[in-house]
Amino acid sequence: MQTVMDMDDMMLDELSDTWEDMRENYQESRNEGYDRSVLDCAAELTADPDGESAYVWTLGLTLMAPYLTWLPGAGVAEQAVTALEAADRALRGHGCAHDAHPYESHDVDQDEQLAELLLLIADDTAAWEEDRPRSEWRCPLNAAGFARIALDIVRPGSVTDVPPRLPVDAKASIDTLAALLHGYPKPWTDIDDEISGQAVELSCAAPADRAGRLMVVRAVTWYAVSGTVHTKSVLDSLIRSVEQVVPHFAEGDCAHDGHPPLPNSGPNAAELGITLSSPGGRGIYEQRRIAWGAAPLDKVVCPVLMGEIADETLAQLRERYEILFGERDTSHADAEYLRADGRLDIEKLVERSDNKHWNEKYADDLGLWAARRHEQSDDRDRAVLLLVAYQAVQNAYPAPPLSVARGVLATMRAVAAAPLPAECLHEDEHPPLRRAEFRDGMAHFWAPEEFPPAEESRSAESWMCPRFAAEVAEACIGDLKGLYEEDEVAGAS
Ligand SMILES: [Zn+2]
Ligand SMILES: [Zn+2]
Ligand SMILES: [Zn+2]
Repeated sequence: MQTVMDMDDMMLDELSDTWEDMRENYQESRNEGYDRSVLDCAAELTADPDGESAYVWTLGLTLMAPYLTWLPGAGVAEQAVTALEAADRALRGHGCAHDAHPYESHDVDQDEQLAELLLLIADDTAAWEEDRPRSEWRCPLNAAGFARIALDIVRPGSVTDVPPRLPVDAKASIDTLAALLHGYPKPWTDIDDEISGQAVELSCAAPADRAGRLMVVRAVTWYAVSGTVHTKSVLDSLIRSVEQVVPHFAEGDCAHDGHPPLPNSGPNAAELGITLSSPGGRGIYEQRRIAWGAAPLDKVVCPVLMGEIADETLAQLRERYEILFGERDTSHADAEYLRADGRLDIEKLVERSDNKHWNEKYADDLGLWAARRHEQSDDRDRAVLLLVAYQAVQNAYPAPPLSVARGVLATMRAVAAAPLPAECLHEDEHPPLRRAEFRDGMAHFWAPEEFPPAEESRSAESWMCPRFAAEVAEACIGDLKGLYEEDEVAGAS
């Protein structure tokens, strides 16, 4: 059997390099080289868990542990865990004269120096400038401590007597959500999956993690209801997950004289939620509270506060769900866009369908109203209503909700499917379709006696040409295509 004493320096160099590489690049799936390194290291530790080289192997497994939370080969993590547990049992019973050991204050940031430090710990001739003496690093109790740190990385919360540490996947989750909620999702993030995944995490959360998970759902809810998410099932899953936890908080009671405000920015709210969703994260929260001052944990996760948060989140989800995916009533728009005599208020329609950001707020109702009215109108009105609906879709921000897309698409598809004459029956070109360029001529076309012609006016036949209508419809269909699942769009408008 080989111990570090008969292992030449070269070999420890290589091991340290390999382990450091794995620490940095742990996000590897079933990497055979990585698996081999873990199994070799675990075998050395298993062969002599109480040996004088045990500290080398426990530090090695600490460095490689993040990979074991990702996707190692079958049985690899289990062998490492067995070796680490055996080492902890064998080493922790030793007596020593030290007051303390480096593992007791070791945190995740210090992992970065561990591989290099290992070479210095093993080499008595190397200069030593660390705070704690070399003998403490080599002490069996320190090796036992690092065995437990490695176990805590591989199976978060499975050991005690280690400094608190955020689980590897929690750290990744905070980064992913911060990018997404800032509006710049990582290129590999599937937004729908990421958000529904947080709903699933809340549904399956252990009681102690429930408050943290609810805070994450609260944070992704703001994003999901902003109109950026076009998949109904994502909102469904958020609503279901909050509904499930409401009863858990409903019985809540507390003696607090108030509750701290929770973060109101998505990224911060998500980070706090993820932190409070694991024992290690809650330990870190407690450390920070002591160091920098913050509300005590029991006030932050208080069931009374969480009950309020759940109710608020649910109300917001239900209200927006109705707006985004429910049927939309546009009857009030008649008063808005028809004149007293029941005819179109052409000036207002031209103004509201102009491509200006202040028209965003009218776009959804205006687009759907115009699309619905199109069917029951005469040819002149239809030409206007089709363009208004098309233009409203352009103006909708960030995109028209499902109810609007569904109604507009139904109209556009009917127009696009109508039989067309082989050629235009007018001499002039069609009105320009880019952005709002057509607006100038539209009022004159619709009411020539009231509005003077624009510089380049088109004939009424051109405005009402079925081939032009089909162009507009196709362009609009192109804009809306793929925004929603086809079976959701196919529902009646
Ligand atoms: Zn000791
Ligand atoms: Zn309370
Ligand atoms: Zn034409």
